[in-house]
This record gives sequence, C-alpha cells and structure tokens, in this order.
Amino acid sequence: MCIVPTKPFVFDEAGNLFAEHLIFNNPDLLLGRVKKDLALSKHTDFLFKAGENLPTVSFCPLCGEERVRNVIWFDDKPRYELMSCNKEDCVSKLISSNPDGIACPIKVSTLNIFNGHPAQQREWGKFLRNILGLPRHVSPETVLGLFIDSYNNSLSSKELALAS
Ligand SMILES: [Zn+2]
Repeated sequence: MCIVPTKPFVFDEAGNLFAEHLIFNNPDLLLGRVKKDLALSKHTDFLFKAGENLPTVSFCPLCGEERVRNVIWFDDKPRYELMSCNKEDCVSKLISSNPDGIACPIKVSTLNIFNGHPAQQREWGKFLRNILGLPRHVSPETVLGLFIDSYNNSLSSKELALAS
C-alpha cells in the first residue's frame, strides 16, 4: 500500500511544471529531483506503483485479444510494430523473433532500465504517453486520474484473487 495523492504535484508557484508531465516529457529531470525532495519522492513512488499496469490503447498484434504489455526496444527506440500482450505464447513469439532487441514491459518502472541514459528515458516517457492514448498537452489532473484508477483496479483485482 502507498499513499494515494489527492492532487498533481506542482513544482513552482506559477503552476506550470507538474510531476505528471515530467514523467512523460522529462523523466530524467523528475528522477533527478526526487532525491532532493521527500514529498516529491512519495508522489513519484505512487506514480511508479500505479504505473505497473496502466491501460494501453493497442491490442496485441499477435493474438488480437489482449492489450499490449511488452515492446521490443531496438536501436535506442521502442518499436511500435513489435509488441505483445502478457500471454506466454505471445511473449515467447515476440522474444524469439527479435533476438537482437530487449523485451521491455510497458510500465513506468521500466524507466529504471535506462538510468543514466536521459535521452532513452525521454524516449520511453514519450512512448508511454502515446501507448496510453494521451495527447501531448494532457492536463496533470487527467494523468493523475488515470494512475489512480489503474492503482485502484489493481488493488481490487488482488482482493478478488485472494477471495477466490
Ligand atoms: Zn497476445
């Protein structure tokens, strides 16, 4: 469990720099600031936890049944044409047909794979925003709402699994 924020995290009094934007546009900057700010660190922890199972807009090109959950990273880019859902068959097909790429789970925490590589983190942030179907100038409230919904959904599916 972690603390669910009630509003987006804003950096300046002018109110135009939000953690909810940086996570997609400048994740390297966000992660650099986390170390110096406890409140931001807690907020970002939530974004990472809630970002484990976000609702992607595309369906698996291999089975056409489930949403995409993995993408091949190749040549310093996530390859939109090379994705799969989480079904074992689809994942193994994706990996075996792309031995030169890295299979990355479509999660916020995948940013950690690219620690120390700001350009690649930005590439990943942009990919996430696109695969979530969010426009470039999405409001921070919309982003936070999406993360909160996703976090609540993952909690209730855990409860169902425990009850059965
Ligand atoms: Zn599939």
